[in-house]
Amino acid sequence: MKAEVISVGTELLLGQITNTNARIISRQLQEIGVDVYYHTSVGDNSERLLEVFHTAWNRSEAIILTGGLGPTQDDLTKETIASYLNLRLVLDEPSLARIREYFEKRDREMPENNLKQALVPEGAIAIPNDKGTAPGVLLERDGRIVVMLPGPPFEMEPMLKAYVIPFLSKKSSGVIFSRVLKFYGIGESMLEERIKDLIEGQTNPTIAPLAKMGEVTLRITAKAGSIKEAMDMIAPVELKITERVGEYLYAYDDEKVEEIVAGLLLKLNKTIAIAESCTGGLVSHKLTEVPGISKSLDRAIVSYSNRAKEELLFVKRGTLEKYGAVSEQTALEMADGVRRSSQTDLGLSITGIAGPEGGTAAKPIGLVYIAYSDASGCAVERHLFSGNRSEIKEKAANAALHLLRK
Ligand code: ATP
Ligand code: MG
Repeated sequence: MKAEVISVGTELLLGQITNTNARIISRQLQEIGVDVYYHTSVGDNSERLLEVFHTAWNRSEAIILTGGLGPTQDDLTKETIASYLNLRLVLDEPSLARIREYFEKRDREMPENNLKQALVPEGAIAIPNDKGTAPGVLLERDGRIVVMLPGPPFEMEPMLKAYVIPFLSKKSSGVIFSRVLKFYGIGESMLEERIKDLIEGQTNPTIAPLAKMGEVTLRITAKAGSIKEAMDMIAPVELKITERVGEYLYAYDDEKVEEIVAGLLLKLNKTIAIAESCTGGLVSHKLTEVPGISKSLDRAIVSYSNRAKEELLFVKRGTLEKYGAVSEQTALEMADGVRRSSQTDLGLSITGIAGPEGGTAAKPIGLVYIAYSDASGCAVERHLFSGNRSEIKEKAANAALHLLRK
């Protein structure tokens, strides 16, 4: 089923509000296998709404409109669409009763102009609105489905979920199901290069790459009659992908690297202490989002000054003077120092330059050292991240977690 969303409201065009309705509707429709081909925003203007609706009517099987169902003069969605479809507006008694009740509950007199909200195009279903006064409208005509919902998201969303989605999902056949593969340590272009023929050759399932914060994900999406059928279509494609780039695959779907790391630490019964410089506690924050981590995470020290590195982490003054705070040597001593001072199994450290100031030719912004220490020795990684201050922090924190994962 081909669908489109028309968002009505001059505020949208003026940039005063963000069109979250279109996003919510699209997401919900995609889950039930309805393809959304167009989003259009149009002002509270009957002529232009007619134009937009006319186009939609000629190309889509389902048209979802939001906004313009209010009681005022500029709310004209229902009137405009009814006139396009040559339908009279008729009073819907249950809606009127609900509107009266809405005002009674609030001890307010119902204004005369709220009466018009109880009007619906003849033959249409009025969708009850539990959060406001304007009922929604659902109508079928000439093989098309037209839905009108109020603009306020907290009114629109429950009506969408309770009435529109079940209705459309009965009409549409099929589901869309996705599986996400998450990779680390391989760039987007390299990954695409290796599976180029697969991406190009596939229409169902499709393979869509996405790069973000130093990792790349591949979303494999299948359209099928049932989830089981979709999964069976995805499995062989996934296998082909993992045959080629499986060594970089670290997680599926929503799984996060910190969850994997926490799982490993808990399973192996290892304790850890962390010393963070340029990430300002971000690694510890991410780890502590995982419930139960306090069994493993002993402490995390955010040490920015040289003095803190010396006093709390036992980094040698000589090391700091000779190599600087952002160096392999300092990172190693930080990891070792935090581990020994906390008497944990593992030590992890991050030191780097997040910018925007402080970069030099020898030590540019984005230079980050991550070190790891355990009883058998230590190791250090050098990274050069791109991005602004928070992106560099985010990428460094992720890299540190990935180092622990390995
Ligand atoms: P009301 O009875 O509140 O007037 P309505 O159906 O007439 O409802 P609009 O007047 O178009 O809806 O919009 C009312 C409010 O709903 C807007 O001020 C805005 O806050 C929110 N809204 C409208 N459209 C959208 C949208 N597409 N995305 C997010 N919010 C929206
Ligand atoms: Mg309004």
